[in-house]
Amino acid sequence: MPELPDLEAIKDFLNQKIVGVPISMAEVVNAIPVRRPGAGEFASTLTGNALADAERRGKFLLLKMRSGHIMAVNPMLTGRLQYAGGQEKRSAKTCFVLKLEDGNELRYFDARLMGKVYLVKAEDLNDIPGFETIGPDAMDGSVSLEEFQTRLERHHGQIKNILVNPRFIAGIGNAYADEVLFHAGIYPYRRRGTLSQQEIERLNSAITEVLTDGREEVASRMGEAIHVKIRDFLQVHGKGGQPCPVCGHTISQITANQRLTNFCRQCQR
Ligand SMILES: [Zn+2]
Repeated sequence: MPELPDLEAIKDFLNQKIVGVPISMAEVVNAIPVRRPGAGEFASTLTGNALADAERRGKFLLLKMRSGHIMAVNPMLTGRLQYAGGQEKRSAKTCFVLKLEDGNELRYFDARLMGKVYLVKAEDLNDIPGFETIGPDAMDGSVSLEEFQTRLERHHGQIKNILVNPRFIAGIGNAYADEVLFHAGIYPYRRRGTLSQQEIERLNSAITEVLTDGREEVASRMGEAIHVKIRDFLQVHGKGGQPCPVCGHTISQITANQRLTNFCRQCQR
C-alpha cells in the first residue's frame, strides 16, 4: 500500500513531470476502480485536459485538472500509478491510461482492484466517501502535542489500530505504523489507555521523525519508477525473523486480517 512518504514522492514527481502536458487521450481498460463518473464520462472529461497541480490529502492523491475537475486516487492496498513511455508494455492489471502529448503515459494498475478513483468537480470533493472525515495530516506539522493528546483520548483500543485510523491522524498506514511504534519503543498491541505521558510524547515525535526520514529516502530513490514500493530501508516492517537493528533480538511477525505486524519484543514494551 502506498503510504504517506510514497504518495508525497509521487505527488512531487507529477508536479515536476506532468503539470501542463496535455492529455491527448484517456482510455479506460477496466472500470472497476473508477467509482465515479462512468467510464465514458471519465475518459471524455480527461481527454484534452491537463494536470494543473497535484496535492495529497491523507492517502488520497488529488490530481487537479485544468478544467477544474479533480481526480482523487485512493490506491488502497494494491493500486499504483505508473509513469511509462507509450511503447512500454502495459501491466495486465492496467485499469486506465492517460496518454500524454509528449509520448509518455500516466497509467493506473491495480492487482486486486481494491483502489478507488473519483473524478469530481472541486466543490464536490467532500462527497467522496471517507473524504470529509479525514483527520489532520500526520506530516504538515499542524498537530500540536496538546491536540495529539486530545485526539488520542477520543480513540480506544490498541495503539497500532488507532495510528492507522485516518480519522485520528491521516496518512499513516500499516508499514509506517510499525516503524513509528518501533521508534517510540511501544508494543503495537498496547491499549491506548495504558500509555504514559512520556510514551505519548515519544509517539508524537516518532510520527514526524519516521515519516520525514521515509519521505526523504523514498524521494531520493524513486526516480521515474513511481509504481515501485521502496521499503527495504525500514527497520522492522517486513523484517520478521531478522535481528533487531537496535538490540539484535529476533523481530517478531504476526499476520492478522491480511495485515503484517512486525515489532521487537525487547525494544517495544
Ligand atoms: Zn530490539
